[in-house]
Amino acid sequence: MCETRINAVPGKGNFDADVIFVGEAPGRSEDARGEPFVGAAGKRLDSILEDTGINRNDVYITNIVKCRPPNNRIPSKEEEMACINFITQEIEIVNPKIICVMGNTAYSTLLGGKEITKNHGKIIEKDGKVFFVTFHPAATIYNQKLIGEIRNDFKKLAKFLKDKNEIKQFEDRRCDFCMAKTKHEIVVMPKIITRKRRWLFKCTECNHERWLQPYRTVAESLY
Ligand code: URA
Repeated sequence: MCETRINAVPGKGNFDADVIFVGEAPGRSEDARGEPFVGAAGKRLDSILEDTGINRNDVYITNIVKCRPPNNRIPSKEEEMACINFITQEIEIVNPKIICVMGNTAYSTLLGGKEITKNHGKIIEKDGKVFFVTFHPAATIYNQKLIGEIRNDFKKLAKFLKDKNEIKQFEDRRCDFCMAKTKHEIVVMPKIITRKRRWLFKCTECNHERWLQPYRTVAESLY
């Protein structure tokens, strides 16, 4: 695809973002400008973000593949795998609270999932990362019925981010990784993800993370 593209289209946005949005592949406008989601699908995404009170400048937006597939076809598995290191590294660097996969390509590449119509709106935990599944904004251009559904999904996502920021507490304790006396950020995972209530202790010095049951945190926070 790098032979037929005009520009490569890397991800763009805030490197401190709480959320990364992942689409499929650049289209014609993205190829011309070298930026993700700046054409018709991008306008849809902007309008849904605005409706849900999420500011585009606060988030990071990217695609599974970084070059436009000829005639906007769906990228092949080989093409996705050729680009997989880019998205993995973008996720590592931004280290978001949640990764929003938009559409079947992102859903199958990052989560091995199928049938977005049955699974949209779900929060899924995989390899220590939290994902949110929704439709691709372009799907709402061809199927108007999806507009309400995607808006509801985005509201859920906005609520997840709001709750996450509100529940954040800090507690003084010693980090059992770097041993520094530090403040641990306590993040309570919602029931939907773990079923069991667990707290994530994140050391503000070294970023070490550790999952604990709430009753253990009481005893452990004493030292
Ligand atoms: N569709 C995508 O999946 N990504 C873009 O950047 C634009 C359209």
